[in-house]
Amino acid sequence: MGQRVAGRRRRSKPTPVSRERRRAQQRAVRQRLGDAIAGVIRAAIEAALEAEVTALMGRARYARRAAAPLRRAGVRCTQWGQDWAPRLVRAGHYTRTLLTALAAVVVRVPRLGCRCRGTVPVEFATLGRYERVWGDVQERARQLAGLCLGLRDAREVLAWDNGQPLACSTLQGWGHQAAPLAAEMRGRRKRHAQWIVQHGEDLPEIRNWKWGTAR
Ligand SMILES: [Zn+2]
Repeated sequence: MGQRVAGRRRRSKPTPVSRERRRAQQRAVRQRLGDAIAGVIRAAIEAALEAEVTALMGRARYARRAAAPLRRAGVRCTQWGQDWAPRLVRAGHYTRTLLTALAAVVVRVPRLGCRCRGTVPVEFATLGRYERVWGDVQERARQLAGLCLGLRDAREVLAWDNGQPLACSTLQGWGHQAAPLAAEMRGRRKRHAQWIVQHGEDLPEIRNWKWGTAR
């Protein structure tokens, strides 16, 4: 009996953690998460750029030039206009700060050169030549606009993850790009509503539409 009481007494509550300490701790973990996410994004983008270079050159990094097939690369040396794949050489990297939806990252963008020491400008599919804000941010901005979020609110939401508020003018510019499509959508909805009133059924173009049939 005495032992049980003693045992119960030992099972006292743990020392409570102050709210400040918990917050600080969770902030620290989130910071580490953010760093890890940024690292993954950077690695994925750099790997994709590298793969594009390998495809252009027809040979992997450190592979001998003779290994490259004799074909046109589709990119041209600015000095002599040569575009044969075996003439391409890797010419280091330059760094680019890139804002993605989840993090701002610094990526190493490969540079290409020619054996004549000329430079070979490349347009990557992974990343536009002057692109500072990656496509996923624009996609999210459009989703938010689709939810009828105002510019300022959209800007806040976008900055939640990557911590980098965009200029409202940038967001507005994207909105203008999407304006013709939005107008087209509104027009179609209106036409559809009128059609239903007149004909009592859906427009022919969507009458047999089903989920999952989009290609
Ligand atoms: Zn050249």
